Amino acid sequence: MRNGTRFLLLHKTENGKIMTELEYKDLLKTAWKQTEFSYAPYSGFRVGAALLAENGSIYSGSNVENASYPAGTCAERTAFFRAVSEGQKKFQAIAIVGGKALENGEIEVRDYCYPCGICRQVMAEFCSFDNFEVILCCSKKMEKENIKVFKLKELLPFAFAKNQIQNKILP
Ligand SMILES: [Zn+2]
Repeated sequence: MRNGTRFLLLHKTENGKIMTELEYKDLLKTAWKQTEFSYAPYSGFRVGAALLAENGSIYSGSNVENASYPAGTCAERTAFFRAVSEGQKKFQAIAIVGGKALENGEIEVRDYCYPCGICRQVMAEFCSFDNFEVILCCSKKMEKENIKVFKLKELLPFAFAKNQIQNKILP
């Protein structure tokens, strides 16, 4: 453990449940699978995400790019918006993985695939800062030492979130 990051440990999630190493790996497996559906003809960087809802459902997502670059979206937001549009609003964790696509269809994984700032902000809308977990992995083999787990508060400190505006009367 260094710089505030943690390697695979077991944490309590929002509903008091403790995720097991197997559950972390299952979620990561889904995220890796999801990289196959990434649409990334411009960056060639394929990302997969697997979002675990509080009720145990898993919503997966891939990054989807566009010729008009800002119209594209990240894998994490794809997963969140799928889940929320199907009625889920409580979540335990998200696994995120990615890497550069090679000509043979494989992915070259060089590093952890951290969520961008916009995706962290979307997490802040729906997830507990203290309990929601972001699971990252820099190896397809998913060895324990290549998995990092962060709490949302570690990735988005001093966030602007709904508690700052929810008491206002909206038109
Ligand atoms: Zn993002």
